[in-house]
Amino acid sequence: MIDCGKDWLRRVWDVAPTAIVLTHAHPDHAWGLADGAPCPVYATEATWALLDHLPIRDRRKMPRGKAISINGVKFKAVPIQHSIRAPAVGYRVSIGSRSFFYAPDIAGLPNRKRTLGGIQVFIGDGAVLTRSMVHMKAGQLIGHAPVTAQLDWCESAGVARAMFTHCGSGIVRGKARQLNVLVRRLGRMRGITAGLACDGDRLILAARPSA
Ligand SMILES: [Zn+2]
Ligand SMILES: [Zn+2]
Repeated sequence: MIDCGKDWLRRVWDVAPTAIVLTHAHPDHAWGLADGAPCPVYATEATWALLDHLPIRDRRKMPRGKAISINGVKFKAVPIQHSIRAPAVGYRVSIGSRSFFYAPDIAGLPNRKRTLGGIQVFIGDGAVLTRSMVHMKAGQLIGHAPVTAQLDWCESAGVARAMFTHCGSGIVRGKARQLNVLVRRLGRMRGITAGLACDGDRLILAARPSA
């Protein structure tokens, strides 16, 4: 399970994941662990420093920029720009030769081509579609890059598919179907199959066995 926001506070025990991996310490990503966790939790040192108050017993350190294997799935934490107070990472997740990159809150992505090169799917930040919510603070980008900017990153890195999750109120309260058509069109303009993620979506990452 990647991230556990406070709306998962009770439900995380029913989900009973084998491991939880955190992107950053914001409440909507980590405070679902306010009663502890049913499994080991992985986070960077910077994220753990902000989660001292949570009764999580099995705390594991996630290195930055170096892949580790958790139950046969490789996770590589890549530092991204989003918040100064709660430093965030995105995850390049690989199973065999197939990979996706997951960054639910992202303002800027350094080393785009290296980070996204060779992935099958980009799963990004759905806070805003076209309007930028990025600000500059202390020489760093903070906030949320619009979907259009993230699609540009995907295009320049040759990523064929993009999904957007963690959608902002404009999308959640808006007309989901129409907005999804818009995201699909924004993707198509860049040669990318794009769409908004919905609860319950399943993504088949493994290559199909050849007939
Ligand atoms: Zn955040
Ligand atoms: Zn968030």
